[in-house]
Amino acid sequence: MTPFILAVEDEDALSTLLSYNLEKEGYKVAVAADGEEALLMVDERQPDLIVLDWMLPKVSGIEVCRRLRNRAETRNIPIIMVTARGEESDRIRGLDTGADDYITKPFSMTELTARIRAVLRRIRPGLAEDLVRHGDITIDRVAHRVKREGKEIHLGPTEFRLLDYLMQHPGRVFSREQLLDAVWGSDVYVEARTVDVHIGRLRKALNQDEGSDPIRTVRSAGYALDVDA
Ligand code: CA
Repeated sequence: MTPFILAVEDEDALSTLLSYNLEKEGYKVAVAADGEEALLMVDERQPDLIVLDWMLPKVSGIEVCRRLRNRAETRNIPIIMVTARGEESDRIRGLDTGADDYITKPFSMTELTARIRAVLRRIRPGLAEDLVRHGDITIDRVAHRVKREGKEIHLGPTEFRLLDYLMQHPGRVFSREQLLDAVWGSDVYVEARTVDVHIGRLRKALNQDEGSDPIRTVRSAGYALDVDA
Protein backbone atom coordinates (compact mmCIF):
# COMPACT_ATOMS: atom_id res chain seq x y z
CA MET A 1 0.00 0.00 0.00
CA THR A 2 1.43 3.34 -1.05
CA PRO A 3 1.46 5.90 1.77
CA PHE A 4 -0.62 8.96 0.90
CA ILE A 5 0.99 12.28 1.84
CA LEU A 6 -0.69 15.66 1.92
CA ALA A 7 1.74 18.55 1.42
CA VAL A 8 0.39 21.91 2.56
CA GLU A 9 2.47 24.72 1.11
CA ASP A 10 1.51 28.10 -0.35
CA GLU A 11 4.72 28.69 -2.31
CA ASP A 12 4.13 27.22 -5.75
CA ALA A 13 7.79 26.50 -6.46
CA LEU A 14 8.19 24.59 -3.21
CA SER A 15 4.94 22.64 -3.49
CA THR A 16 5.89 21.55 -7.02
CA LEU A 17 9.29 20.45 -5.76
CA LEU A 18 7.66 18.60 -2.85
CA SER A 19 5.17 16.67 -4.93
CA TYR A 20 7.76 15.83 -7.58
CA ASN A 21 10.27 14.49 -5.06
CA LEU A 22 7.80 12.67 -2.84
CA GLU A 23 6.24 10.95 -5.84
CA LYS A 24 9.72 9.93 -6.93
CA GLU A 25 10.16 8.36 -3.48
CA GLY A 26 7.09 6.24 -4.19
CA TYR A 27 4.49 8.18 -2.19
CA LYS A 28 1.10 9.23 -3.42
CA VAL A 29 0.95 13.01 -3.04
CA ALA A 30 -1.72 15.70 -2.91
CA VAL A 31 -1.01 19.39 -2.46
CA ALA A 32 -3.06 22.04 -0.65
CA ALA A 33 -2.18 25.72 -1.05
CA ASP A 34 -3.70 27.01 2.18
CA GLY A 35 -4.97 25.84 5.55
CA GLU A 36 -8.63 25.87 4.61
CA GLU A 37 -8.06 23.71 1.56
CA ALA A 38 -5.93 21.35 3.65
CA LEU A 39 -8.74 20.77 6.15
CA LEU A 40 -11.24 20.10 3.35
CA MET A 41 -8.86 17.65 1.69
CA VAL A 42 -8.29 15.76 4.93
CA ASP A 43 -12.07 15.33 5.27
CA GLU A 44 -12.25 13.99 1.75
CA ARG A 45 -9.49 11.47 2.11
CA GLN A 46 -7.40 10.97 5.18
CA PRO A 47 -3.67 11.16 4.44
CA ASP A 48 -1.14 8.86 6.09
CA LEU A 49 1.03 11.88 6.85
CA ILE A 50 0.87 15.66 6.44
CA VAL A 51 3.79 17.95 5.66
CA LEU A 52 2.42 21.21 6.99
CA ASP A 53 3.88 24.66 6.41
CA TRP A 54 3.70 26.99 9.39
CA MET A 55 2.92 30.21 7.56
CA LEU A 56 -0.15 29.72 5.39
CA PRO A 57 -2.91 31.96 4.07
CA LYS A 58 -6.46 31.73 5.51
CA VAL A 59 -5.85 29.19 8.26
CA SER A 60 -2.29 28.97 9.62
CA GLY A 61 -0.39 25.70 9.86
CA ILE A 62 -0.52 25.77 13.62
CA GLU A 63 -4.31 26.21 13.55
CA VAL A 64 -4.69 23.35 11.06
CA CYS A 65 -2.62 21.18 13.39
CA ARG A 66 -4.72 22.19 16.39
CA ARG A 67 -8.02 21.49 14.63
CA LEU A 68 -6.86 18.09 13.41
CA ARG A 69 -5.70 17.14 16.88
CA ASN A 70 -9.04 18.18 18.37
CA ARG A 71 -11.05 15.71 16.34
CA ALA A 72 -11.08 12.01 17.10
CA GLU A 73 -11.07 11.03 13.40
CA THR A 74 -7.99 13.10 12.58
CA ARG A 75 -6.15 13.09 15.91
CA ASN A 76 -3.65 10.43 14.94
CA ILE A 77 -2.56 11.65 11.53
CA PRO A 78 1.22 12.15 11.68
CA ILE A 79 2.21 15.77 11.04
CA ILE A 80 5.62 17.17 10.12
CA MET A 81 5.59 20.93 10.59
CA VAL A 82 7.69 23.13 8.32
CA THR A 83 9.01 26.32 9.94
CA ALA A 84 11.27 29.10 8.77
CA ARG A 85 14.80 29.30 10.15
CA GLY A 86 15.13 30.85 13.56
CA GLU A 87 11.53 30.44 14.68
CA GLU A 88 12.65 28.67 17.85
CA SER A 89 9.64 29.54 19.95
CA ASP A 90 7.33 28.70 17.06
CA ARG A 91 9.11 25.42 16.71
CA ILE A 92 8.42 24.52 20.31
CA ARG A 93 4.85 25.74 20.02
CA GLY A 94 4.50 23.48 16.99
CA LEU A 95 5.49 20.45 18.99
CA ASP A 96 3.19 21.53 21.84
CA THR A 97 0.30 21.69 19.44
CA GLY A 98 0.92 18.11 18.55
CA ALA A 99 3.14 18.04 15.48
CA ASP A 100 5.15 14.80 15.44
CA ASP A 101 8.28 16.39 14.06
CA TYR A 102 9.41 19.64 12.49
CA ILE A 103 11.81 20.62 9.76
CA THR A 104 13.33 24.04 9.17
CA LYS A 105 13.39 25.84 5.81
CA PRO A 106 15.50 25.62 3.75
CA PHE A 107 15.72 21.84 3.90
CA SER A 108 16.96 19.21 1.48
CA MET A 109 14.58 16.63 0.06
CA THR A 110 16.84 13.91 1.43
CA GLU A 111 16.37 15.34 4.91
CA LEU A 112 12.61 15.58 4.50
CA THR A 113 12.18 12.06 3.14
CA ALA A 114 14.32 10.69 5.98
CA ARG A 115 12.03 12.46 8.47
CA ILE A 116 8.93 11.15 6.73
CA ARG A 117 10.23 7.59 6.81
CA ALA A 118 11.15 7.92 10.49
CA VAL A 119 7.74 9.31 11.47
CA LEU A 120 5.86 6.70 9.46
CA ARG A 121 7.96 3.93 10.97
CA ARG A 122 7.30 5.21 14.47
CA ILE A 123 3.60 6.01 14.13
CA ARG A 124 2.35 3.71 11.42
CA PRO A 125 4.72 0.75 11.52
CA GLY A 126 2.31 -1.13 9.27
CA LEU A 127 3.00 1.29 6.44
CA ALA A 128 6.75 1.22 6.43
CA GLU A 129 7.39 -2.46 6.94
CA ASP A 130 7.45 -5.27 4.46
CA LEU A 131 6.13 -7.83 6.90
CA VAL A 132 3.10 -6.97 9.01
CA ARG A 133 1.57 -9.17 11.67
CA HIS A 134 -1.78 -8.83 13.30
CA GLY A 135 -2.99 -11.58 15.59
CA ASP A 136 -2.48 -14.81 13.67
CA ILE A 137 -2.40 -13.07 10.28
CA THR A 138 0.88 -12.21 8.54
CA ILE A 139 1.13 -10.24 5.35
CA ASP A 140 4.33 -10.08 3.33
CA ARG A 141 4.19 -7.06 1.05
CA VAL A 142 7.28 -7.91 -0.94
CA ALA A 143 6.39 -11.49 -1.73
CA HIS A 144 2.65 -10.69 -1.82
CA ARG A 145 1.85 -13.57 0.49
CA VAL A 146 -0.60 -13.92 3.34
CA LYS A 147 -0.55 -16.49 6.09
CA ARG A 148 -2.96 -17.28 8.86
CA GLU A 149 -1.65 -19.46 11.70
CA GLY A 150 1.30 -20.24 9.46
CA LYS A 151 -0.89 -21.55 6.64
CA GLU A 152 -0.77 -19.85 3.28
CA ILE A 153 -3.91 -17.96 2.27
CA HIS A 154 -4.51 -17.25 -1.41
CA LEU A 155 -5.99 -13.85 -2.13
CA GLY A 156 -6.83 -11.95 -5.28
CA PRO A 157 -5.08 -8.58 -5.78
CA THR A 158 -8.06 -6.55 -4.50
CA GLU A 159 -8.54 -8.73 -1.42
CA PHE A 160 -4.81 -8.43 -0.76
CA ARG A 161 -4.93 -4.62 -0.86
CA LEU A 162 -8.06 -4.60 1.25
CA LEU A 163 -6.48 -6.77 3.93
CA ASP A 164 -3.28 -4.75 3.75
CA TYR A 165 -5.21 -1.53 4.37
CA LEU A 166 -7.27 -2.95 7.24
CA MET A 167 -4.10 -4.30 8.85
CA GLN A 168 -2.58 -0.84 8.87
CA HIS A 169 -5.42 0.41 11.03
CA PRO A 170 -6.58 -2.42 13.27
CA GLY A 171 -9.76 -1.67 15.19
CA ARG A 172 -10.73 1.31 13.09
CA VAL A 173 -14.08 1.25 11.34
CA PHE A 174 -14.05 2.23 7.67
CA SER A 175 -17.11 3.06 5.62
CA ARG A 176 -17.48 1.45 2.20
CA GLU A 177 -16.69 4.82 0.63
CA GLN A 178 -13.48 5.18 2.63
CA LEU A 179 -12.40 1.70 1.62
CA LEU A 180 -13.22 2.43 -2.02
CA ASP A 181 -11.07 5.56 -1.95
CA ALA A 182 -8.17 3.89 -0.20
CA VAL A 183 -8.13 0.54 -1.96
CA TRP A 184 -9.60 1.23 -5.39
CA GLY A 185 -8.60 4.91 -5.63
CA SER A 186 -10.77 8.00 -5.57
CA ASP A 187 -10.66 8.35 -9.36
CA VAL A 188 -12.25 4.95 -9.94
CA TYR A 189 -16.02 4.69 -10.10
CA VAL A 190 -17.30 1.50 -8.56
CA GLU A 191 -20.39 0.90 -6.49
CA ALA A 192 -20.15 0.68 -2.73
CA ARG A 193 -21.66 -2.81 -3.00
CA THR A 194 -18.41 -3.92 -4.64
CA VAL A 195 -16.70 -3.53 -1.27
CA ASP A 196 -19.14 -6.03 0.26
CA VAL A 197 -18.33 -8.55 -2.45
CA HIS A 198 -14.59 -8.29 -1.88
CA ILE A 199 -14.94 -8.30 1.90
CA GLY A 200 -16.97 -11.49 1.45
CA ARG A 201 -14.19 -13.10 -0.58
CA LEU A 202 -11.54 -11.95 1.88
CA ARG A 203 -13.54 -13.40 4.78
CA LYS A 204 -14.02 -16.69 3.01
CA ALA A 205 -10.31 -16.99 2.27
CA LEU A 206 -9.26 -16.05 5.81
CA ASN A 207 -11.79 -18.25 7.60
CA GLN A 208 -11.54 -21.41 5.57
CA ASP A 209 -10.60 -23.56 8.53
CA GLU A 210 -13.54 -22.20 10.48
CA GLY A 211 -11.25 -19.94 12.47
CA SER A 212 -12.67 -16.90 14.20
CA ASP A 213 -13.71 -14.13 11.84
CA PRO A 214 -11.23 -11.23 12.19
CA ILE A 215 -13.39 -8.87 10.10
CA ARG A 216 -16.15 -7.10 11.93
CA THR A 217 -19.19 -5.76 10.11
CA VAL A 218 -20.47 -2.60 11.73
CA ARG A 219 -24.11 -2.13 10.81
CA SER A 220 -24.67 0.92 8.61
CA ALA A 221 -21.08 2.05 9.24
CA GLY A 222 -18.70 -0.31 7.49
CA TYR A 223 -15.95 -2.76 8.33
CA ALA A 224 -13.04 -3.10 10.74
CA LEU A 225 -10.30 -5.58 11.45
CA ASP A 226 -10.72 -6.65 15.04
CA VAL A 227 -8.00 -5.50 17.39
CA ASP A 228 -7.82 -8.79 19.27
CA ALA A 229 -8.02 -10.93 16.15
CA1 CA B 1 4.35 29.58 3.62
